[in-house]
Amino acid sequence: MMSFYGLPIGVNKHMDFFRARLLWQENDQKKKYHLVKWSEVCRPKDMGGLGIQNLTHMNKALLCKWWWKLYTTEGLWQDIILKKYIRNKNLGSVSVKQGDSQFWREILKHRDHFTSLCKFTVGKGDKTRFWEDWWIGSAPLSKNLPRLYDICFDKKKTVKEILDNGIDNMHFRRTLTRDSRVLWEHIKEACSSVTLNEDNDEVKWTLTKKGVYTVKSFYRHLIENGIRYPHLYTWKIKMPPRVKVFMWLALKNSILPKDNLLRRGWKGDDKCPFCGHKENINHLFLSCSVTRLLWNILKCAFN
Ligand SMILES: [Zn+2]
Repeated sequence: MMSFYGLPIGVNKHMDFFRARLLWQENDQKKKYHLVKWSEVCRPKDMGGLGIQNLTHMNKALLCKWWWKLYTTEGLWQDIILKKYIRNKNLGSVSVKQGDSQFWREILKHRDHFTSLCKFTVGKGDKTRFWEDWWIGSAPLSKNLPRLYDICFDKKKTVKEILDNGIDNMHFRRTLTRDSRVLWEHIKEACSSVTLNEDNDEVKWTLTKKGVYTVKSFYRHLIENGIRYPHLYTWKIKMPPRVKVFMWLALKNSILPKDNLLRRGWKGDDKCPFCGHKENINHLFLSCSVTRLLWNILKCAFN
């Protein structure tokens, strides 16, 4: 289902509500603290989460597989889509029309994010947008030359349309300033070395080494914010899952010693019941005299 339809926000929230409850609540009906933010729980383990799926991102990554199919392969399904929705437009310029199916509307929402992660090699030039796709230089021309892009007509035109029409016939809404003119001359020069041919435009996905789209690569990209989780070994040790999750919580400083409980509005004595020092996560695991004794016994027992 998630690869055919966009998950409505309400449904998503509802599912997350129950999934979170399943995780934190266990069997009894008593309300329990949610110890780690849900968005963090839903990260892959090597990004510090529990590896529970983020449904919004997975939904998007699955839907974008259709774009990959449309851009890189031919077949009956693609023909139907082209005839039904695209007609005289092209993949990059088509937009939502009245009467379009829900499936197509959802897919269209994600096109620009998808194409922003692709690198195009021009053949016929009919699937590559001149300004908005990355086919020349180090990024899309719209990114590298935002001022020219702002004042150009034909923002959505393909490389083929622009080159067939003659790049000298490209018009702008204002007369170009001296700087812009110099830039534009550079672009024209670069374009003059491009010759269109009968091959299909080639699309490479920039998030995988082989240049081929994978749901996983996009999913991870959507979640990623540069954080790498340094404690991956906790998942590799042979222990019951329950203990692993507990260690994961402890490393995130998300278990509930008394100092954390106090911060959440709990009322009570914040002293360690064994030694009378203030109880916090470090005390509980490392510095309390009882803990130290326990570690020593374990060390002797297991050598
Ligand atoms: Zn203590």
